[in-house]
Amino acid sequence: MKLNGISSNTPSNGHSSTDAQHDGRATNGVSHNGSSVDGHSVACDCLTDELVDEIGDAHGTSSIDTPMRPDAFNLDDDFKIDLIEEHFREIMNILGLDLTDDSLKGSPRRVAKMYVNEIFSGLNPANKPTPTLFDNKFRYKEMLVEKDIIVQTYCEHHFVPIIGKSHVAYISSGKVIGLSKLNRVVEYFSKRPQVQERLTIQIAEELKRVLETDDVAVIIDAKHLCVSTRGVRDINSSTITSSYGGKFEEEATRQEFLRYVAQPSITI
Ligand SMILES: [Zn+2]
Repeated sequence: MKLNGISSNTPSNGHSSTDAQHDGRATNGVSHNGSSVDGHSVACDCLTDELVDEIGDAHGTSSIDTPMRPDAFNLDDDFKIDLIEEHFREIMNILGLDLTDDSLKGSPRRVAKMYVNEIFSGLNPANKPTPTLFDNKFRYKEMLVEKDIIVQTYCEHHFVPIIGKSHVAYISSGKVIGLSKLNRVVEYFSKRPQVQERLTIQIAEELKRVLETDDVAVIIDAKHLCVSTRGVRDINSSTITSSYGGKFEEEATRQEFLRYVAQPSITI
């Protein structure tokens, strides 16, 4: 197949092949016809357009863990960038964009590097922050609240940004964590294709694990660009999700946390 003078190297099944296939490198079960060689589904070719839209609106259809294939990290990052570049070039090509244009020709590479090295780098457990814990020498017994942590993640249904704030709190069980590490945990789980509910729970569960306590609270208030820039195109609405564990399930503790969150942020 040749589109606008750019060969797409199409084999007889109508789907483009890759250098990886030519030189025998495995592509981790990812095939180019919507199914896979190792039985893992990689595309929803069984879904109707109506059902695809419905799932895009309905959250909570998946598990707490980000759905990943067991072989997700068999490919190294450089090879993933090469493959994504090739496939994104094909998407632009199909849309009819002139990839010889100076402004566009670097876009496939830029997008591929951005996906792997930046906005989806939190898929890789190797990038997970390893918070250092300290003894609670001050015997500080009250809740610690870190509020207004910026959240920048991507809707896994539409691959457009979700932007907002999170507020996290914990009550020490004897250990304390560096403040910036709370931000790092939020950042790590945000750098994935996400639904807001799962992101909230993943942050809460990780903080419980690290801090060895159930006394953890997380709130996220965020705007979904898939809601504001397409579909219903509501630029005003935002989505709030929360997770309350341990003492935060008690009304008085929860209300104290919510009071702190509601206070205007200080400016310095
Ligand atoms: Zn969406």
